[in-house]
Amino acid sequence: MGRSFMPKIRTERELKRIQLEGLQRTVTHAYKNSGFYQKRFDDAGVKPKQIKSLKDISKLPFTTAQDLQEGYPFPLKSVPFEKIVRIHASSGTTGKRKVLCYTQKDINDWANMFARCYEMAGLTPKDRVQIAVGYGVWTAGVGFQLGVERLGAMAIPIGPGNIDMQCQFLEDFQSTVLCATASMALLMGEEVEKRGLKDRVALKKVIMGSERSSEAMRTRMKDLLGVEHVYDITGLTELYGPGTGIDCAYHEGIHFWADYYILELLNPETLEPVQPGETGEMVVTTLRKEAAPLIRYRTRDLTRLIPKRCSCGSVLPMHDRLLGRSDDMFIIRAVNIYPGQIDYILSHSNGVGSEYQIHLKRKEDGKDYMAVRVEREEGGDPAGDTIHASAIEEEIKKQILVSGKVEIVDYGSLPRSERKSKRVFDHREES
Ligand code: ZN
Repeated sequence: MGRSFMPKIRTERELKRIQLEGLQRTVTHAYKNSGFYQKRFDDAGVKPKQIKSLKDISKLPFTTAQDLQEGYPFPLKSVPFEKIVRIHASSGTTGKRKVLCYTQKDINDWANMFARCYEMAGLTPKDRVQIAVGYGVWTAGVGFQLGVERLGAMAIPIGPGNIDMQCQFLEDFQSTVLCATASMALLMGEEVEKRGLKDRVALKKVIMGSERSSEAMRTRMKDLLGVEHVYDITGLTELYGPGTGIDCAYHEGIHFWADYYILELLNPETLEPVQPGETGEMVVTTLRKEAAPLIRYRTRDLTRLIPKRCSCGSVLPMHDRLLGRSDDMFIIRAVNIYPGQIDYILSHSNGVGSEYQIHLKRKEDGKDYMAVRVEREEGGDPAGDTIHASAIEEEIKKQILVSGKVEIVDYGSLPRSERKSKRVFDHREES
C-alpha cells in the first residue's frame, strides 16, 4: 500500500557501497565548506582523498558535543545561510544549547527516515497517529508529525499533557497509534482504565521515544491500552532528530538506517572498535546531511550491535536499546562499568522494579565493593527477595565479571526524580 520508504538494498555489499559513496561525499563536502571541519582535518593530517574504503573512517577526527557548543550559534554549518530552511536546538541543560541547521534536502531525508520508521512498525496511510510528544524548538513533535505526513497517515498533534483532550481524541478520532514517552504512555493507560474507555478506543500500537523502559512497563502499557505492539524509536537532535531507527514487529533489536549514517561502536576510553555484540559508545557519521554533517560524532550513548540478521529478513542492521551514557561510567577492580549494564540486568530480572542505586565502598582490606540496592516490584512478595537477589548477583557476575551484593528494598522507598535519577554513589573517598 502506498509508496515504500525501505531502501532498495538486498545485500550487505550493496549497503557498504552506498556507505562508502556517502562517506566520501560527506568528507569532501565538509572539508570544502566548513571552516571547522577543514581545521580539524588539517590538524589530524588527513585529506578527503585518503578515504578510499570504509575502514579509512578510523583516520578521521572525532566531533563532540563540546564542539557544537563552542560553535554556537551555528556549529558545523557547511552551506550558505540562504540554503538553510530551519534550525532545531537540543533542550540541553548545561552550557549552551546545541543548534543544528537543516537544508530542504535534510528535512526531506529526515521525513523519509521517519516515514520508514512508521513503515517498519507496520503503519499505513490508514493509520491515525496521536502525537503526544513535545512541540517546539526541539525535534520531537515536529519530527513525529513530519513522518506521519510523509507516510500519508493522519497526524493528530496534541503534544504532551492535556489528558482530557488526549482521552477525548482517542475516543472521537479513533486514533490507532499513540506516540509518547514511556511515562506519558503509561499515564494514558492508567487514565483509559480509570475512565473505562478501553473498549471505546481503537489503539493498536504505541511508539515511544528512547527513554528507558522495562519489560514490566511495556507489559503494563499493552494491558492498559489494549495495544498489540510497543515500539522504541531512536534518534538525537544532532542526527536530524528522532526517527533514525526503530524495532520491527519481531522486536529483536532496533533496526537503524545504515544507508543514512554509519554507526561505529567504540570503547569510550581507547576509542577503538569493540567486538561485535560488546557494549560501546555510539559514534555516528552522516552520509547525506548537508547543512550540518556529522563526522565521527561521539553521542556518549552506549549500546551494542546485535550481530545477526533479524527474523524479518531486513538487510538493515540492528543495535540494542540504549544502555546508558558513557559519561556515567565508573571503574571498580579495574573493570569499566556503566550503570546501564546494571540497569539492563535488572530490567531482565524477576521480582524487582526499575528504581535502583549503586553504592561503591572501600573496605578495611583495601578492596572495592559494589552494592546494588533495588526496589521490589510493585505488589511483590518479600518472601522471594533472597532468591531474586542471588539470581541477580549471579547475573552480574556472569555479565560484568565483578561481584556485587544485591539488596532488595520496599517498593517506593528509593527517591524518585522528575529529571534523571542519581544512580551511582561512590563512598570510596569518604573515610
Ligand atoms: Zn526486523
